Amino acid sequence: MKVDVLVIGAGAAGLMCAITAGQRGRRVLVLDHANKPGKKILMSGGGRCNFTNLGVTPAQYLSANPHFCKSALARYTPYDFIAMVEKHRIAYHEKELGQLFCDESSKLIVRMLLDECTAVGVRVETSCAVEQVRKAEEGFAVLTAKGEVHAESLVIATGGLSIPSMGATGFGYELARQFGHNVLPTRAGLVPLTLSGKHLQHYQDLAGVALPVVEARVDKRDFRAGLLFTHRGISGPSILQISSYWQPGDELRIDLSPQQDIGEWLIAQRTARPAAELRNVLGDLLPRRLAQRLCELWLGSKPMRQYRDAELHDTSARLHDWPIIASGTEGYRTAEVTLGGVDTDGLSSSTMQSKLVPGLYFIGEVVDVTGWLGGYNFQWAWASGRAAGEVA
Ligand code: FAD
Repeated sequence: MKVDVLVIGAGAAGLMCAITAGQRGRRVLVLDHANKPGKKILMSGGGRCNFTNLGVTPAQYLSANPHFCKSALARYTPYDFIAMVEKHRIAYHEKELGQLFCDESSKLIVRMLLDECTAVGVRVETSCAVEQVRKAEEGFAVLTAKGEVHAESLVIATGGLSIPSMGATGFGYELARQFGHNVLPTRAGLVPLTLSGKHLQHYQDLAGVALPVVEARVDKRDFRAGLLFTHRGISGPSILQISSYWQPGDELRIDLSPQQDIGEWLIAQRTARPAAELRNVLGDLLPRRLAQRLCELWLGSKPMRQYRDAELHDTSARLHDWPIIASGTEGYRTAEVTLGGVDTDGLSSSTMQSKLVPGLYFIGEVVDVTGWLGGYNFQWAWASGRAAGEVA
């Protein structure tokens, strides 16, 4: 079979690229080895797909070259995607911090992308493994489980390594290497952190305890959002965000009450409740079981009247800067994204085309561009897919 554009990977980036190329009149085929398209879209945002973020800027992306994402993001903005969502009458809402979610279901986003594909004659083939790719005289010859496909342009949109049970593979990285591209080391991002040894023993039974707002800090990065204790460590949005910046051995510190000066509050409590023990007083500020545990392990506890100002300020300083030793991450099994990937040095930032092999493109998560939690990763998938689809 002969096509103009072959897209491997029917996820967010691949489908957007296919639609864009199809709109230009190109004959486009999208192949995916999974049994249905857009599986990650379906599971995203707790089933409601956080499809973009109104506050997208290049600053919310990690990449060895922080400038690489600028051109594509500037040319396809959240408002462009919203226009498509509105055209398909999909109801949505802003949850917080500019994050847009479907009111009903992520299925509507997949349906919308497939309808757009159909409207411009794009074919989407699922359950079709790719066995071999080689450069042909004109374009590429791709051997698939369903026969050989010749394509003028080849777009790799196979995503990262996270959630292998949903079809994630290292295919894109292998293919990049096959064609001489550098692939930067990959690691799990937006992922819960694990504790081990005595650190795990100290907090394991707090699994399920949550704090609505903490500030998680690594080096000069910090994120304010919720924290959740799990059976194996810590999670919640603040931890998922900081996990993309945390590396084994890095010091993680947590401000357990970033919105309030704990020292001033404790001094006021000493006047109001002089006979109360610190551990009970702190139970009004933090989850009760966490307050008890921190007092047992670290802070001690006595009646409030026995504390001098300096001691309360010291307690406060510790709670605003709680050091926690993470041993690792939950890994690709639960990570939302993969950091690293195809080195952007080998790609054009305006078209995503390979600088080494004309006609070859890499888009979406397979590229070394990774967004924060909150709709940023889909926006990169749409924008990079669009950039390639305009020229492929
Ligand atoms: P993918 O969507 O992963 O698509 C890649 C496709 O390639 C898949 O269909 C896969 O089957 C196919 N493929 C892989 N290998 C092969 C192969 N060898 N042959 C053929 N096909 C292959 N981001 C947000 O912005 N908002 C969210 O709400 C959000 N929620 C998430 C929730 C979860 C649980 C997870 C795991 C991720 C979430 N993300 C979210 C991240 C987001 O899903 C990804 O960044 C995005 O899907 C990347 O798009 P992509 O098209 O590059 O890759």
